Amino acid sequence: MEENPFILGVDLDGVVADFYKQLRIIAAEWLDKPLETLTTKVTFGLDEWGLDEYGGYEKLHRFAITERNLFRKMEPIKDAPSVLRKLSLKGVRIRIITHRLFLKYFHKTSIVQTVEWLDSYDIPYWDICFMKDKGAVGAHAYIDDAPQNIINLRAKGCYTIVFSNATNLHLDGPRANNWREAEALVMESMDEWRTGSLTLFGAEGFSAPNAP
Ligand SMILES: [Mg+2]
Repeated sequence: MEENPFILGVDLDGVVADFYKQLRIIAAEWLDKPLETLTTKVTFGLDEWGLDEYGGYEKLHRFAITERNLFRKMEPIKDAPSVLRKLSLKGVRIRIITHRLFLKYFHKTSIVQTVEWLDSYDIPYWDICFMKDKGAVGAHAYIDDAPQNIINLRAKGCYTIVFSNATNLHLDGPRANNWREAEALVMESMDEWRTGSLTLFGAEGFSAPNAP
């Protein structure tokens, strides 16, 4: 690892892990509804699935993690583990940043499932941060799917790649529709960072040639 590596802040759910696919299966069971009645064209918060009359999203989330091992059972998004391995070998420092601890009382379960899952798919990372304010972590580029995270990061001047899914189609690019496209964007941003020409750059506290 070089002394001043390019750091990529990587969100997990909806970017590396196929969160919505597995959660939809669990939600169908929890709601006792046929799977096909739950749309895949969801917005952030999953209002389309009619969770409110059953107690709301947080109750489903708790059930999914504690009783159905959601964070252990999800499939990776296609090509995510292999592209992250390639990027790591090319000198990108992978920093996982996830807000999976947003509910109280089962942090241990969430963390154990997360770390076991990452190992089981041989996903490389040097750092793992469980936190909400992703911009406070400090990375040279980010990849995320949650609209509000992307908006907040960009408002701080952080270069942020949108990883496409139904929840974020309204946002401007840079955008990756798959991990092949993400790989190209990350390599491009690393080159631009090295030459000091990366725009929308500069998480607070980071020094860089073109940081404000
Ligand atoms: Mg996400």
